[in-house]
Amino acid sequence: MEILKYIALIDQAINENESEIEGLDRAIGDGDHFINLKRGITAIHSMTDQLSTMTVNEQFKMIGMKVLSTVGGASGPLFATFFLEMGKHITDSKPSLKIIAEAFSKAVDGIKQRGKSDVGQKTMLDVLIPVAAKFEELASSNMSTQEIASDVNQFAIDCAHNTKDMLPTKGRSSGLGERALGHMDPGAKSCQVMISAVCQHIQGE
Ligand code: ADP
Ligand code: MG
Repeated sequence: MEILKYIALIDQAINENESEIEGLDRAIGDGDHFINLKRGITAIHSMTDQLSTMTVNEQFKMIGMKVLSTVGGASGPLFATFFLEMGKHITDSKPSLKIIAEAFSKAVDGIKQRGKSDVGQKTMLDVLIPVAAKFEELASSNMSTQEIASDVNQFAIDCAHNTKDMLPTKGRSSGLGERALGHMDPGAKSCQVMISAVCQHIQGE
């Protein structure tokens, strides 16, 4: 697994979606979601030399610790949990797609527990939980990796869009009630952008 390559792809995709992500958090949050994401990515970039000598699970753990200590907001500890959990479940340097999908699901479970949240609350979990289930299902099918990436990409886009019609019941936007309708959740959008960046790269391989 080339984590650093994917971090670079994610960085680029987040930059390309800066105005949308920032705009969504300005509309139904406090406007800092893009900045929080960039702080995490910059912190990861600063460890490139150390990371390049590590095993995959050490890399995930170090990234998780770094994100935990540098990224504030509600999303920082949740993203950190994702990386820390991935580090627990991916130990092979060349894991199968099935192992990656299982680890992804467990990491998303970790976010659920840390955030005391679940699907339907207009958060990042409205992308992550359905995508994790879809990914696990497809990873145990006969589909090619490229086909799986294509399906997961489109599914993540649909899931992020579905958050427009949801009422927020968790996090900063939960006090807004119906005023949040019509806006995607910023964390759902950023997770979709990150998932799509990885999927689109794999589709093109
Ligand atoms: P903050 O809300 O502290 O300003 P960010 O703007 O970085 O932090 O992140 C906001 C995003 O975090 C939301 O759009 C939502 O997706 C996600 N989020 C917030 N609280 C939770 C939670 N308890 N569980 C899951 N996701 C959450
Ligand atoms: Mg915010």
